[in-house]
Amino acid sequence: MTDYRDRLRVKPGSKVRLKDVDPGYHGDGVTTADAAAMVAAYERQLELGQLKLYAESRRSLLIVLQGLDASGKDGVCRHVLDAFNPLGTTVSAFKQPTPAELAHDFLWRVHARAPGKGEVAVFNRSHYEDVLVVRVHGLVPRKVWSRRYEQINEFERQLGASGTTILKFFLYISKDEQLERFRDRLEDPRRNWKISLGDYEERSHWDEYIEAYEEALERCSTDDAPWYVIPSNRKWFRDLAVSQILCATLEDMDLRYPEPSVDLEEVRRQYHLAATGDGGRKKVKPGKGRPER
Ligand code: AMP
Ligand code: MG
Repeated sequence: MTDYRDRLRVKPGSKVRLKDVDPGYHGDGVTTADAAAMVAAYERQLELGQLKLYAESRRSLLIVLQGLDASGKDGVCRHVLDAFNPLGTTVSAFKQPTPAELAHDFLWRVHARAPGKGEVAVFNRSHYEDVLVVRVHGLVPRKVWSRRYEQINEFERQLGASGTTILKFFLYISKDEQLERFRDRLEDPRRNWKISLGDYEERSHWDEYIEAYEEALERCSTDDAPWYVIPSNRKWFRDLAVSQILCATLEDMDLRYPEPSVDLEEVRRQYHLAATGDGGRKKVKPGKGRPER
C-alpha cells in the first residue's frame, strides 16, 4: 500500500509545479472496491483517535481544506470527517469577510476558530484565501499579501507550539473536471442551489489561481504544518488519500486515554459491591456502534 503521506506531501523548500501533478491519479492498482473498504477501516481509526484526543484534552488537531470550486471540500467533510464525533469537532466555512472581519487583521477570524484542547477543527477554506482569491483579484496591494506567507507560517508555528497538529489538504482537480461537476449541479435538483455564476467567471482566472496555489504550497509547507496535494478528479481516491494521511498523523500523535482520576477498586467496592454483590464486574456489552477499544 502506497504511503500517501510521503507521496503527496509538499516537501518543505521544494518547488511546486502543479502541471506536473496528474489530478486524475488514483493510486497504483487500487480498485474502487478496495478503496471503499480501506476508507471504512480508516474511518474507524479516525473515530477512535478523535475519542482519545477528546479524552486526553491536552492537544488539538487542525485540518485545512482548500481547493477551487467543486474540488470536493464539502465532500471530504461529508464522507471522511463525519467519522469524528460532533462533540469535540468544529467545522468553519470561511466566506467573504464581513465588515467586522475586514476591520481586523486577516488572521483574526481564523484564530478565533482554531481548535481548543481536545478538539478537532476543520477549516473549509481558510486563511489561505488571503493569499489566493485576495491575490488573484487584487483585493489588497501586492505589498500587503506578499507579507502574508511569513505571517501565516508564524501563526501556524504559534498554534503548533501550543499543542495543535496541523495538516493542510489542497484538493486538486482539472479544469475539465470542474466543468463536469458544474454540469452535474445543473442536472441534479438537489444541487441546483450550489450553482453560482461567479464560479463560472472564476474559471477565466484558472491559471492565476494555480500560480497563487503554487506559491502558497511552496512557501507554507513546513515540517510542522505540511501541505498535501491530493489528486481529486476521482472522489474515491481523494477520500482514500485524505483518510490514510489523517490516520497516520493521528497515529503519530500517540494518543492515549488518560489514566482514570479515581481508584477503580475503591469505586467498585464502595458503590457497586454492596448493591449488586458482584463487585460491578459484570460484563458490559459494548453498545451498538460504540468503537472497540
Ligand atoms: P463557497 O466556498 O462556495 O461557499 O464560497 C465562499 C467564497 O468566499 C469563495 O468565493 C471564496 O473565494 C470567498 N472568500 C473566502 N475567504 C475570502 C477572503 N478572505 N477574501 C475574499 N473572499 C473570500
Ligand atoms: Mg463557491
